[in-house]
Amino acid sequence: MTHRIVVLGAGYAGLAATVVLAARSRRRDDVSVTLVNATDRFTERLRLHQVAAGEQLADLRLPELLVGTGVTLEYGWVTGLDPAARTVRLDDERDLGYDTLVYALGGVADTTGVPGADEHAYALGGRHEAELLAHRLAGPGGSVVVCGTGLTGVEAAAEIAEQHPGTTVTLLGRTEPGAALGARARGHLRDALRRLGIRVRTGVEIVKVLPDAVALAGGETVPADTVLWSSGVRGAPLAAVAGLAVDGAGRIVTDAALRSVSHPDVYAVGDAAAIQQGYGLLHGTCQSGMPTGVHAARSILATLAGATPPRFRFGYYHTTISLGRGDAVVQFTRPDGSPRRLSLTGRSAVRYKETVSAAPWSTYRRMTRLPGTGSIWPRGGRYTR
Ligand SMILES: Cc1cc2nc3c(=O)[nH]c(=O)nc-3n(C[C@H](O)[C@H](O)[C@H](O)COP(=O)(O)OP(=O)(O)OC[C@H]3O[C@@H](n4cnc5c(N)ncnc54)[C@H](O)[C@@H]3O)c2cc1C
Repeated sequence: MTHRIVVLGAGYAGLAATVVLAARSRRRDDVSVTLVNATDRFTERLRLHQVAAGEQLADLRLPELLVGTGVTLEYGWVTGLDPAARTVRLDDERDLGYDTLVYALGGVADTTGVPGADEHAYALGGRHEAELLAHRLAGPGGSVVVCGTGLTGVEAAAEIAEQHPGTTVTLLGRTEPGAALGARARGHLRDALRRLGIRVRTGVEIVKVLPDAVALAGGETVPADTVLWSSGVRGAPLAAVAGLAVDGAGRIVTDAALRSVSHPDVYAVGDAAAIQQGYGLLHGTCQSGMPTGVHAARSILATLAGATPPRFRFGYYHTTISLGRGDAVVQFTRPDGSPRRLSLTGRSAVRYKETVSAAPWSTYRRMTRLPGTGSIWPRGGRYTR
C-alpha cells in the first residue's frame, strides 16, 4: 500500500514540506508525494510590494525545481476539502485522495472588519492582485492611501513612493510604523518614510473604504484615487467550511506537532495555521513558515515509522523591512520577536534583506539536489529550543 501525502500550496511553507518529504522518501516506494498549487509558478509573496510598484521578479517555476524528485505536481485551484472522505476538490472538478494532508494555502487579506475594503481596495493577496495594482499605478500621478501601518503596509508605501515619485502616498493606521522595533531601527524607518515623502497618520480608526476615499471614525474622509488594504491576514474560508477547527482568524488550530486538533491526518503550516508557542501565537512570516513545513514533513515520516511526532518549537531571530530598493531596516530579535539592541540600516540592511529574501528558493534547490538528506535545513532561529 502506498501512503499518499498531498501538500496543498507551493508557497514558502508548502514547498519546504515538499522538498523535505521528497528528500527523505526518495528511496521509498510506499510513499507518494503530490504538490497541488494554483499555478506552476513559485510566488515570492514577500516581494509582492515590488510587483505592486511595477517591478519585475525572477520567474521561478515549480517543474524546474522538482524535476527528478518524484513529486507529482497538480495545478488547479482548491475549492473544497472533505476530511471524512479524505479528498481534495479542484476547480476542474477533479478529486484527489490523500492519506495525510499538509495544508499550506497561506492567508488572504483580512477585509472582513471594514465595509467597502473588499469592493474598493486593492490587496497584496497574490501575484495577480499585485499586478492589478501595478497596472492601476502605471498611469500618471494621483493619490494612494495605504491602510495599515504594519510591516507590509510600510514596505508597500515605501516601494510605491520610490517607484512613482509623482504619486502622493499616505500611510494610515492605529500604531506608529515599526512600533515593535527598537528605538534606532524605528527612528531610521521614520526618517526613510519622511525622505520618501510619505504622509503618515497614526492613531486613526478606518471605518469604511469608499470608491474614492477612506472614511475615518469621527467623520473625516481621506481622498484616495487608489486604496491598498494592508491590515491583517486571515485564513481562507475553505478550512472552516470543511469542518476543521479554526481560530477567530480562520486559521487551522494545531497541536504541538502541527496536526489539526480536529483532524490529526491534516497538518497545517505557514500562514494558514494557528500555532501556539510559549510566547504566544506565531505571526505569519517566511521565517517561521518554512520551519513549520520542514517540521510537518519530518513529523509525517516519523509517524509512518511508528514514532511519536516531535513538538514544534520556534524562535524568531530578526525582522527585516525594505524601504524601497536602496534602504532597509533589520532588527535582530529575541525568540519571542521582541527587539534586541542590534539592528542594521541602509546599505548593509539592504544586502542582508536581499540575501534572506533570496534564500528560500536556493535552499529548496540544494535540498532537491542532495539525495537522501533533508538535514541541511535549519530548524528555525538559533534560539529554537
Ligand atoms: C508584501 C509582503 C511582504 C512580506 N515581507 C516579509 C518579510 O520580509 N519577511 C517574512 O518573513 N515574511 C514576509 N511576508 C509574509 C510572508 O510572505 C508570508 O508569511 C509567507 O508567504 C507565508 O507562507 P505560506 O507558505 O504560508 O503562504 P504563501 O507564501 O502565501 O503560499 C500559499 C500558496 O498557496 C497557493 N494557494 C492559495 N490558495 C490556493 C487555492 N485555493 N488553491 C490552490 N493554490 C492556492 C498560493 O498560490 C501560494 O502558492 C510578507 C508578505 C507580504 C504580502
